[in-house]
Amino acid sequence: MHPRFAKPLDTLPAPLKAALLPMLEPEQGGEFNARFTPEQVATLKAATGLEDRALRLALLPLAAACSVAPISKFFVGAIACGLSGSWYFGANMEFAGQGLFHSVHAEQSAISNAWLGGETGISEITVNYTPCGHCRQFMNELSTAKILKVSLPDDLSALQSFLPHSFGPADLDITDALMSPQAHDELALESEDPLWQAALAAARQSYAPYSQGYAAVALQFADGRLFCGRYAENAAFNPSLPPMQMACAHAVLNGEDLATIRRAVLLESKNGQISQRDSAQSTLKALGSVELEYQAV
Ligand SMILES: [Zn+2]
Repeated sequence: MHPRFAKPLDTLPAPLKAALLPMLEPEQGGEFNARFTPEQVATLKAATGLEDRALRLALLPLAAACSVAPISKFFVGAIACGLSGSWYFGANMEFAGQGLFHSVHAEQSAISNAWLGGETGISEITVNYTPCGHCRQFMNELSTAKILKVSLPDDLSALQSFLPHSFGPADLDITDALMSPQAHDELALESEDPLWQAALAAARQSYAPYSQGYAAVALQFADGRLFCGRYAENAAFNPSLPPMQMACAHAVLNGEDLATIRRAVLLESKNGQISQRDSAQSTLKALGSVELEYQAV
């Protein structure tokens, strides 16, 4: 089990702790992937007698334990409920010494985890603090923005009640939505390299209706594992989540240490109105690691 879970686990009721332990220590070895299948959720509910919302609130300290917040020391955890019935952890991530715009919010992290896990929408998101304006706007881009519920320790409300007079994709005549299936198969690359192949697959599924700058990052770590991030664009532009940020956040959720990145590749469309190259390079530089490998296709 990753050491970050030891302390919060000790604060949980004994039946929940006992039922969780085997999930945090997969039998086949390896790391807990920050997700719970519908079967695992059913196991946890049976063991604790807790209903869905109460169980997610009880699990929040574990999600928050995945936070990397060297600047704010404000540890946010989130759990997104995918339409498939799986649950996905998320946590905020900051980059020490770098501009705050590099940060990833817990809600963005959980939603990325769900999207990368194959979900096409989320029904509810549970967070230990009220979502900031940036996250409200980010979530207003989702395929399920109109039905999404936000669950807080002391409140359960529709996302739309947090966003009176909202601005969203429809205001820019966009009918597409974040987490709806994407297939930008015009992106092509002749390479047998698994890292580039992973980046290509992720870029084809990226969401960039405003700039057409379809892009993805793939990271390879010292233990051989690969993690991708897809670009997730937003109608209000600034809340867009760059692919490097998503890849880093996803790797950290899966127990990786960003100091052990061995390779980082960025693949993007050469026909987009924007490029992620400088932004991704500067994030990578903040980690003091490798040079960014780059291809526009
Ligand atoms: Zn936020």
